[in-house]
Amino acid sequence: MLSSPIEFLKGVGPLRGDLLKKELQLFTFKDLLDHFPIRHIDKTMVMTIGSIQSNQDYIQVAGIIQSVQLIGQNRAKRLVAELKDATGSMDLVWFQGISWIQKNIQVGQAFLVYGKAGYFNGSLQITHPEMETYTPAKAGGKAFLEPIYPSTEKLKAKSLGGRQLGRLSFSLLEALKERDLPENLPSAILKEYQFPSRFEAYQQIHFPTSETAYQKALARLKFEELFIAQLRLALIKLERHRYSKGVVFKQVGEQFNTFYHKHLPFQLTGAQKRVLKEIRQDMGQGRQMNRLLQGDVGSGKTMVALLSMLLAVDNGFQASLMAPTEILATQHYHSISQLLKDMPVKIALLTGSVKTAARRKILSELAAGELDLLIGTHAVLEDPVQFKQLGLAIIDEQHRFGVAQRARLWKKATIPPHVLVMTATPIPRTLAMTAYGDLDYSVIDELPPGRQPITTVHRYDYARANVMDFIREEIQKGRQAYCIFPLIEESEKLDLENLMRGYENVKAFFPEPKYWISMVHGKMQPALKEANMQRFVQNDTQIMVATTVIEVGVNVPNASVMIIESAEKFGLSQLHQLRGRVGRGSEKSFCILLTGTQLTNEARERLKIMCATNDGFLIAEKDLELRGPGDIEGTRQSGLLNFKLADLVRDKQWLDAAKYQTGKLLDIDPDLALQENNALKIYLQSQKGKLAWSKIS
Ligand code: ADP
Ligand code: MG
Repeated sequence: MLSSPIEFLKGVGPLRGDLLKKELQLFTFKDLLDHFPIRHIDKTMVMTIGSIQSNQDYIQVAGIIQSVQLIGQNRAKRLVAELKDATGSMDLVWFQGISWIQKNIQVGQAFLVYGKAGYFNGSLQITHPEMETYTPAKAGGKAFLEPIYPSTEKLKAKSLGGRQLGRLSFSLLEALKERDLPENLPSAILKEYQFPSRFEAYQQIHFPTSETAYQKALARLKFEELFIAQLRLALIKLERHRYSKGVVFKQVGEQFNTFYHKHLPFQLTGAQKRVLKEIRQDMGQGRQMNRLLQGDVGSGKTMVALLSMLLAVDNGFQASLMAPTEILATQHYHSISQLLKDMPVKIALLTGSVKTAARRKILSELAAGELDLLIGTHAVLEDPVQFKQLGLAIIDEQHRFGVAQRARLWKKATIPPHVLVMTATPIPRTLAMTAYGDLDYSVIDELPPGRQPITTVHRYDYARANVMDFIREEIQKGRQAYCIFPLIEESEKLDLENLMRGYENVKAFFPEPKYWISMVHGKMQPALKEANMQRFVQNDTQIMVATTVIEVGVNVPNASVMIIESAEKFGLSQLHQLRGRVGRGSEKSFCILLTGTQLTNEARERLKIMCATNDGFLIAEKDLELRGPGDIEGTRQSGLLNFKLADLVRDKQWLDAAKYQTGKLLDIDPDLALQENNALKIYLQSQKGKLAWSKIS
């Protein structure tokens, strides 16, 4: 029944059916059922005219028409009818459709009238009211609140506006039997939260008998949405844990130990050690690791990656580290080569700009097992890249890699390699568990010692000269500075012009040959980009003018000042990412957010948060509040957060409840084998294509 095509619903037909599909993506009865009202109007009460207060908004009254008059001229022409009940009278006014109304409203007729109450010349009136003939025997108002649905202009033109859609959902719900919407939640949960049944909830969310009934239905359906999503991910994870064979890294061997004891340039932080241990345990068990590692900018994820890769090498496997940009891959390659320079570990860099001959050599050494570590960009994923024995694949700065790309790694080995996904885009914990519930999760929540917090300030454009003076002082102390310009995706040309103007401007303040400036942007040839980058890394240039290509991972500890131009154009996460390029050395670092004076409240709020805290997770929480989960980097493509009713920020209580119940349920009954979870199991099985259920039967 619920999978029937929408055109078969009473009152739809092929024409309107097509329109509903095109305009609202409503293909089946179920789609219509899940097309929830945006609000309801309350026509359950009929007020007496005498009791209406001047502050009342929408009202419903019932009475008898006393007179109908056409008054006024031209634009002021209007039809006025007087409606009277036992307690008083009021005016009903029409400016449009007058002749039609005149035909349909007769003196002496009784009407139920609904509309927005207003006053004109001191007397109560409703303009363009909704009218229904009224039989006093029918008693009072409607038995339920009337739903208003999201609709479109085109639908409205075909009499399928927000209210008219209610007729369709009404006839659908009327035809629906309890067995069409069987319960899917275990009864213990229903009882615990006093939820209505699924059938009842659907009735009540569309046509609630009261506001309270609506709220209960809404809560139940939100919970259901979150609970099913959590459960699905948790089951995928369970299944992977149980069935996916992974290579076993049995031992901590010579390479790891030698490096750890002889070449490690610093002590690991407690958090780094803990995460490393989690990873080691994961990779030693014989099942495939699929782990998300979150750590704020500068928390030292690279070292964790390196040590994990050495574990692979110690166990006779190869490992790869992938970064989203060429700059970043190259930088990883240089710093890791440097760290491993006295070790017999063979390492290569593979990016799009590696020339054919060199590439051929890398590929053959890789296939022969002569290379231990491969560092690179997306190029690593290409088909000709074949490892002899890939044991661990690490993806740095995950948000630029899609899920599909992650899956390509599987094909690089007979037994899928362990996968470690590292991200510096702090995702609020609640969100991470929801979006990445199928991954195991580690977090580095501690920065290396000796870091000084970055001081962030907001300055207006007119104070630019002062800002430049400040930078000059810092450069005189031997530091370096970044100057970041926004990218506004609509026009690359304008972006580039903007950047060029910015560059000239900076140059005017810092003329050659006393100062040297590097510039890097996305349209630049990789070789030139890399050369400019290197000049800055070597401290040959004091200032780096760049677009956001600099955002991820770049590490120049001597750079201690960053100006972000047009800072209001950036989102919170991005500002935080950018700022993370400074504060990497032992010197005090500064971030200056430059803006014009015209700012939206939201932009002001973002700037305020940036100046107030350096805590990436806190910023991520705020970002979530300000923008909603749909916009959080990395979750956008996942599709996992597209809930119809639930809102991950506002409904945190239900999210937590769903998480708690998922854990509790799976602890006791991981196979959903118990009778009380049977309905749930049947429901999940009916959700075809969303989870491979073949293995859990
Ligand atoms: P991110 O997590 O942002 O990738 P990096 O791995 O680039 O951070 O590390 C940032 C900086 O901190 C690097 O210069 C790195 O050498 C240094 N670092 C990492 N771990 C430690 C540590 N335990 N003690 C001191 N410095 C560290
Ligand atoms: Mg990094």
